[in-house]
Amino acid sequence: MVSIANNLQAVRARIDKAASASGRNADDIYLLAVSKTWPGEYVRAAATAGQRAFGENYVQEGVEKVVELRDLALDWHFIGPLQSNKTRIVAEHFDWVHSLDRLKIGERLSSQRPPELGPLNVCIQVNVSGEASKSGCSPADLPALARALTQLPRLRLRGLMAIPAPTDDPAAQRAPLAELARLQSRLNADGFGLDTLSMGMSHDLEAAVFEGSTMLRIGTAIFGDRKTS
Ligand SMILES: *Cc1c(COP(=O)(O)O)cnc(C)c1O
Repeated sequence: MVSIANNLQAVRARIDKAASASGRNADDIYLLAVSKTWPGEYVRAAATAGQRAFGENYVQEGVEKVVELRDLALDWHFIGPLQSNKTRIVAEHFDWVHSLDRLKIGERLSSQRPPELGPLNVCIQVNVSGEASKSGCSPADLPALARALTQLPRLRLRGLMAIPAPTDDPAAQRAPLAELARLQSRLNADGFGLDTLSMGMSHDLEAAVFEGSTMLRIGTAIFGDRKTS
């Protein structure tokens, strides 16, 4: 587990290098450590190494870690598929949801967000070209969904998220990331004021920084290869 601290350091070095190569300030790029499938003690080790924000894909597993690690002041981001029967427990335990792609889920999260917590930060997951997952709002439906979500009192729409299909070809990596950035710029030109572009994983971190990511979701490069079931 000593390697988690080393891995974090290596990831931060990759971010610094990619930022300076892109003429960006590394301080504008937030690192989310994706801890899905890893036990709470791995999260604790990353927290000891200075990592504050963690991403989880599975509701039950994520909530167990949120509860187990309450003594650490961590930020928890839900980044996986979300069914309507799980919205309440997510609204009660997480600080962010990145995978919002339907108004119905947004309405439930807003009405179920406990009053003693601040508004839930949300990103709209967009199905950009080459999207690996079937979920995500289509670019055509995005403006209407964004507008509707801004009307919900207990949500704060922060930006867009995508999960492009994995590829090692840098040009192919950049195309969907550039498309997501363009969709966000267009919304901001219409006055949305979105500040978060959630894109970039272990294999396409550099491409994502180049295309303007403000929040990287990094799992493997920090915690190691996940066992596949
Ligand atoms: C697993 C996952 C990540 C992290 O991917 P790595 O390749 O392990 O860095 C990021 N985002 C989402 C939505 C994921 O499901």
